[in-house]
Amino acid sequence: MEGYGIVSRNAKGEAVRLIGVNRDITARMQAEEALRTLNTELERRVEERTAEIKAINKELEAFTYTVSHDLRAPLRAMHGMSQALIEDYADVLPPEGVEFAQRIEAAAQRMDRLIQDLLAFSRVGRKDMRPRPVSLHEAVEAVLSTLSPMFEEVGADVAIEGTLPTVIAHPSTLDQVITNLVDNACKFVEKSTAPRVRLSAETRGSRVRLWVADNGIGIEPKHQERIFRIFERLHGIETYPGTGVGLALIKKAMQHMGGDVGVESEPGKGSRFWIDLPAVSDGE
Ligand code: ADP
Repeated sequence: MEGYGIVSRNAKGEAVRLIGVNRDITARMQAEEALRTLNTELERRVEERTAEIKAINKELEAFTYTVSHDLRAPLRAMHGMSQALIEDYADVLPPEGVEFAQRIEAAAQRMDRLIQDLLAFSRVGRKDMRPRPVSLHEAVEAVLSTLSPMFEEVGADVAIEGTLPTVIAHPSTLDQVITNLVDNACKFVEKSTAPRVRLSAETRGSRVRLWVADNGIGIEPKHQERIFRIFERLHGIETYPGTGVGLALIKKAMQHMGGDVGVESEPGKGSRFWIDLPAVSDGE
C-alpha cells in the first residue's frame, strides 16, 4: 500500500480536514521486480556473449598465427627452388622456362609479404600490451630515421611540425602504427609527384591526436570506412603494391591501446590520417 495525505486549512491556518488516499501498489512493485530480474538476466547474457566472442576471437587469432607460421616453411622451399632454377639452370632452360621460374619467385615473395603482414596483424594484442608514457616526438623521430633510406629512394620530403607531446601507448605497437601510416603516405602518390608528408599533433581534452598529412591521391569519402578492414584495397597490386593489412592492423592496435584512427581526405587533394591516444594526465 502507498498513502498520500493533504491537510485542508481554514483562513486562520488551522487544520480542519485531512484528505487521504490509499493505493494498492502491488502491481507496480511486481512490474518493478520483473524489470529488475529482466535487467539482471540481460546483463548476464551480454557478459556470456562477450566471453563467447572473446574466446572465438582468441581461437581465430591462434589459428591465423599457426597457419601463417606453418605456411612459411613450404614457401621458403618454393622460393629457394625457383631461385636455384634461375641462378643455376638459366643457360639450359628455354627463355620461357626462366620466365616461369621468375614468376614463381615473384609470387612466393608476394605470399611471404602477405604472411608476414598477417603474422604481425595476429600478434597485435597477443602479447602483453601494457601501455606506458611514451614520447610521441621520440617515437616519430625513430620511425622516420628507420624509414629514411626509403624516403631517399622515392624522393620524399617528410618532417615533423612543432613538437609532439607524451602519450600513453605500447611503444613497439606505436612504432608499427606510425611506420604503416608514413609508409602509405609515401606510397599512394601520383607517380610524377614527390611525396610530401607532415606529422603534427594537437591535444584534444584527455587525448592527443597525431596527424599524418600527405599530398597523395586521396580517398573518396565512400571508401574511407572500408579501407580499415583487412584485405580492403582500392587499387591493383600492379599500380600500388600492398597486402591490405596495414590499416586493419592500425585499427586493431589503436583499439588495444584505448585509442582510435580515422582519415579526412578528398580524391586528388591528399589525405590526413589521424590516430588518437590517451594523453598523459597530471601526476603520470
Ligand atoms: P596496403 O597499403 O597494403 O594496400 P592498407 O591497409 O595500408 O594496405 O591500406 C588499404 C588501402 O587504403 C590501400 O590499398 C589504399 O587504397 C588506401 N590508402 C591507405 N593509405 C592511403 C593514403 N595515404 N592515401 C591514399 N590511399 C590510401
